[in-house]
Amino acid sequence: QRMISLKNLTKVYGQGEESIKVLDNLDIDVAAGEILAVVGPSGAGKSTLAQCINLLERPTSGQIIVNGEDLARLPERKLRVARRRIGTIFQSASLLSRRTAAENIALPLQYLGVTPAETKSRVGELLEREGLSHRATHYPFELSGGQLQRVGIARALALRPAVLLSDEATSGLDPETTRSVVALLRELRDDLDLAVVFITHEMDTVLHVADSAARLHAGRIAEQGSLLELLTDH
Ligand code: ADP
Ligand code: ADP
Repeated sequence: QRMISLKNLTKVYGQGEESIKVLDNLDIDVAAGEILAVVGPSGAGKSTLAQCINLLERPTSGQIIVNGEDLARLPERKLRVARRRIGTIFQSASLLSRRTAAENIALPLQYLGVTPAETKSRVGELLEREGLSHRATHYPFELSGGQLQRVGIARALALRPAVLLSDEATSGLDPETTRSVVALLRELRDDLDLAVVFITHEMDTVLHVADSAARLHAGRIAEQGSLLELLTDH
């Protein structure tokens, strides 16, 4: 059972002679309970891919199938709801600085009109799952890099998405913090049966986090397979 499938995904920027094909016919499948890493050098198309997956950019052609539904061609008014199926974490956790950890996690639920009681219970559950209960009322400036990223993960999971997209989320973290974030992602993929797309330029991290990997080069998938296959091909 495929949780997220990209089929013939193509993204072209610009028109005519000025146009540039940034993603060229990508096919990527990630099952529930799987972490797929997408690695590639700068300029390979990783951010564009991330923006297509979290529905901020429309692909020029191709499909983005989540839970059996193609989200690539949804009308604008349906995108906001569809976005809930995909939680995103970024390089900087990008939390609101004047809100506590708990308030940051609660935001997506409040926007959605989830009742205060339900919000409180879900936020409490998420904080506990991520070992952050003792940091609930702390502000971002009072948290370590790893704690910030964990709050970011909790916020991304608040709406119970099927897919978690990690867009360079461990880039810029020190090795130890990276390890703890990676361990958490692996735990979450097991406990919540999440399909995780882990986009990074850091090959080292991929070895620790992913079940399988795709190597992106100039908008195309140069290689795809188990980590072992990817390593032994070099
Ligand atoms: P990466 O994240 O792997 O560095 P990007 O997706 O940022 O790759 O960029 C891939 C290519 O697409 C680059 O050549 C970049 O200049 C080009 N590109 C990205 N966004 C746009 C845009 N909005 N308009 C035109 N070209 C773009
Ligand atoms: P249920 O949703 O019926 O409780 P699940 O197996 O989906 O059963 O969830 C197990 C536990 O994990 C529950 O406590 C649930 O609230 C919580 N949970 C499920 N999905 C998520 C998610 N994406 N983020 C945070 N908590 C979740």
